[in-house]
Amino acid sequence: MLKVIKSIYLWFDSSGDLPNLQNKTKIDWLRCSPFILLHVFCFAVFFVKFEWSLLLVLLITYVLRVFSLTAFYHRFFSHRAFKTSRVMQFIFAFIGTTATQRGPLWWAAHHRHHHKHTDRALDRHSPHVHGFLWSHCGWFLSAENFKTDLSYIKDLSKFPELRFLDRYDIVPPIILAVTLYWFGGWPYVVWGYFISTVLIYHVTFAINSLGHTVGTQSFKTADHSRNNWLLAIFAFGEGWHNNHHHCPSSARQGRTLWQLDISYLILKLMEKFKLVWDLREFDVKENQV
Ligand SMILES: [Zn+2]
Ligand SMILES: [Zn+2]
Repeated sequence: MLKVIKSIYLWFDSSGDLPNLQNKTKIDWLRCSPFILLHVFCFAVFFVKFEWSLLLVLLITYVLRVFSLTAFYHRFFSHRAFKTSRVMQFIFAFIGTTATQRGPLWWAAHHRHHHKHTDRALDRHSPHVHGFLWSHCGWFLSAENFKTDLSYIKDLSKFPELRFLDRYDIVPPIILAVTLYWFGGWPYVVWGYFISTVLIYHVTFAINSLGHTVGTQSFKTADHSRNNWLLAIFAFGEGWHNNHHHCPSSARQGRTLWQLDISYLILKLMEKFKLVWDLREFDVKENQV
């Protein structure tokens, strides 16, 4: 049995390095139990009464939070791809934190680290160094990756409200779950928090795993990043990950009209209402494939 598990793991592990298996022992199972329970609670969907309006609850909580993660956690906090007010910064940091992927400081610090070491030994979630499963969610659950390296986020940690969200990152998810319960009882919590949050987890994680293994390359970046249209649909433009690694500071990741980038389109709309400004555009540079 162990042999079968090991062979499946090594099938995903492109490097085939046995030492990488040791990473698995570093998973902090106790601290990750809420993450595992969230997956289990999705089965509550079979015990609550279905109504079509619940799909709307799922859609709203998915769209709001994926936008907050992709446009703000990623493009704004991690890459400074546009400017906004302190109030907007807090609102979207708060909504992003309800996705239960830890706080904006933790997220941005780890993401900046990823860009600095992409697909090399120090990259914490490269599928080419650690294998597919580890890059998808193992790294997120490991004890050593709970820490935030403050040296990566000096520009962000000066905001006390962001430090608060990072320190008490469990508060916004609880507020969301209680609000959903108040509006519609357990069916709203199951669809708007459990299912929606688990979907967002795996769409976000897929950028690190599939986004570095499956798809095409438009640019000769010094990594394995890929453009993947399917991922781009679900992740609101983040699937154009090879474009992104080519020009990380751009607010736009879908480079052409047909490369759908929902987050960018929403940001352009917000720009018209002066909610965001100074959106940095895509710089093609030379190394196109
Ligand atoms: Zn990447
Ligand atoms: Zn990035």
